This record gives sequence, structure tokens and C-alpha cells, in this order.
Amino acid sequence: MTRVPLVDLQAQYRSIKADIDAAAQRVLDGGQYALGPAVSSFEQAFAAYCGTKEAIGVNSGTSALHLALLAAGVSPGDEVITVPFTFIATVAAIEYAGARPVFVDVDDTYCTMDPARLEASVTPRTKAIVPVHLYGQPADMDPILEIARRRGIAVIEDACQAHGAEYRGHRCGSMGTLGCFSFYPTKNLGAVGEGGAVVASDPELAARVRLLRSWGEQTRYTHAVRGFNYRMDGLQGAVLDVKLRHLEGWTEARRAHAAFYAQRLRDTAVSLPRDRDGVRHVFHVYAVRTAQRDTLRARLADAGVQTAVHYPIPVHLQPAYRDLGYRSGDFPVAERLAREVLSLPIFPELTEQQIDIVADVIRTYIPAAAPA
Ligand SMILES: *Cc1c(COP(=O)(O)O)cnc(C)c1O
Repeated sequence: MTRVPLVDLQAQYRSIKADIDAAAQRVLDGGQYALGPAVSSFEQAFAAYCGTKEAIGVNSGTSALHLALLAAGVSPGDEVITVPFTFIATVAAIEYAGARPVFVDVDDTYCTMDPARLEASVTPRTKAIVPVHLYGQPADMDPILEIARRRGIAVIEDACQAHGAEYRGHRCGSMGTLGCFSFYPTKNLGAVGEGGAVVASDPELAARVRLLRSWGEQTRYTHAVRGFNYRMDGLQGAVLDVKLRHLEGWTEARRAHAAFYAQRLRDTAVSLPRDRDGVRHVFHVYAVRTAQRDTLRARLADAGVQTAVHYPIPVHLQPAYRDLGYRSGDFPVAERLAREVLSLPIFPELTEQQIDIVADVIRTYIPAAAPA
């Protein structure tokens, strides 16, 4: 029996059902099922939320990354630097744009791109850097932006897990050349299907993304550039517009749950996630670390606690990317994290009683005295 699920999407729907149903009904009655006024309204609200001038709604986070890279001028033959410890989509989008992904290891404490290793990977072919704000923790943007500025390279933020996260007062997505979000149902802001957005403050780049998302169509059936069918559904725009109004409350609930986990897990040997100084971590994922990860995961499952591993295989060791020529040992931090991280249940509607259930299992199996 599941006592603590990893996420609970129905609980969230139930809490705002009347507003979601009414917004969806308006789209169904209005007949604009692709883009349309509901999407425009959401785009304006989301840009304001991110602190950017514009937001362009698309059909997934992957599409957002693909279009942002193209708009930034990435083309075949270019290199794009990112991390191997991310969801596969970050790397897939780089290849969709025709570029070669080049990996830089993550740092051991925060699990995001290690800026100290970045510059050594820059070559004359490097066109963009894609830092990933993993688990809702902002990457260390200042040194990354400094290197990019000095070398004339674009920075495309993968903020697919970092809605509302902040780094030194700036929202994730607003610091780089362009920012990319996913609204996959389990993300901190989730659609009732697929969705994504690119955020931009440069009007020219925003216009380019807008053009690319809908077949490069400048005026009806005149195609200025070769584009894509990456439009956001009207229904998703309407749902996201309603949900965005609740996002700050949900984010604060996630942060409170993370603080409660930290307090309840203090007297255990698992390593807890740490916030970088001066950031607002939005805890899309609450990942602890232990060398006994697989055993602990099995014990939690026995106790009815669902967990996940984000991610068990770093991208450079994925069978699908064998031809990039990387091997085991190339990115030791990413490889160790892949063996040790364990994502505990976290979602706004989680209760303290449920956190106690999780913490009790961990305290029983990995007490502070046990070897880490
Ligand atoms: C979810 C996610 C994506 C892809 O988003 P989709 O909407 O699933 O296409 C990209 N990067 C990261 C880090 C993600 O978590």
C-alpha cells in the first residue's frame, strides 16, 4: 500500500478544481484550441513572474530548449556545453539544433555545472552554454555568465525544474540570453499534458522564437524561415494561467517541507541537499545522498514510500549517446551522484505526518552511527 506517494497530481487538481474546470470550459466554448487568447494571457503573466519582457508558450520544455538554441544562432558544426548530470532532454535539444554536446562535470555540493571546469571546455566552436538549474537549485550563474560574456557565447538556461527559483535576486530563466521552462504535469508548474515556454527580454530573440514555434509563418502561408509545429494548446494556456496564481504558495509549501525534512533527518547519516548562498531553491526534487541508496530505497518501498532516482545514469554513459565517445570515469562527480542520490516524496500537498513516516524509515536503516 502506498502511504506516501512521490507526487500527487490529483490532490492539486482537487484543491482548485472549480477554477480549472471553468477555465478549460471557456477554451472549449471559445474554439481557439491552439495558441489563442488563453495562451497569450498566460505568456504575459509568466513573463512578469520570471522578470522578463516576454514569454513564448510552446508544446514542451524540449521544444523550448530547441528553439532557444536555434534563436541564439546555434547551427550544425557548433559545440554547446552542458552537464552530464541532467535529464536527457537537455542533451537531445542540443543535437536537434545540429550541434555537438560537450560536457562539463557538476560540483559535488550543489549538483550543478562546476564553473571552475567550464573555461577549459570552451573552444572557438563553442556557441552556447546550457547550465541546468537541477532539482530547483540555481546553477552558479555569475561565473558562468562572466565567462560567456568574455568569450561572446550565448547562455541558454535550462530552468525546466526551477520555476520561481532565484539567484542573487534574479529569477531563473531571466539571467541568460534566453530561459527555458517545461510544464510537464509533474513540474512545479504543470499543465494537464505537455507544455513549455521560452522567456526573453531581447525583443529580437523573442520574435525569432515566436516565428520558429509556428512554421516560421510571418503572415498567413508566407514562411519567412523554416520552422516547427511547437505551438502551445489553448487548454494548457488556460490551465497554466490559473495554476500560476498558486505557484508562490505551492513553492513556499515545498520549501517548508524541505526544511521539515532537514530537521527530521538531521540525526541520520544521509547527506541532505544544501542551498547555495543567496539563492531561493524551489525543491522540484528533494534528493538526499547515501552510499546505501539502493537498500534504503527498497526499505522505503517496503514501508509504502515511493521514491525515485534523478538520475541513475549520467547522459555521457547512456547507451543512446555511446557514439559521443565518453567513458566511465570521465565525469566522476556526476557518476558518483548517479550512484548515491535518492529523491524523497515532495509536493505542495505533502503533510508533516507523511514526512515523519519517511524520516522514521530512514532513521531506522541509516542512523547517524552507520557508515555513510
Ligand atoms: C523536464 C525537463 C526537460 C524537458 O521538458 P519536457 O517538457 O519534458 O520536454 C528538460 N530539462 C530538464 C532539466 C527537465 O527536467
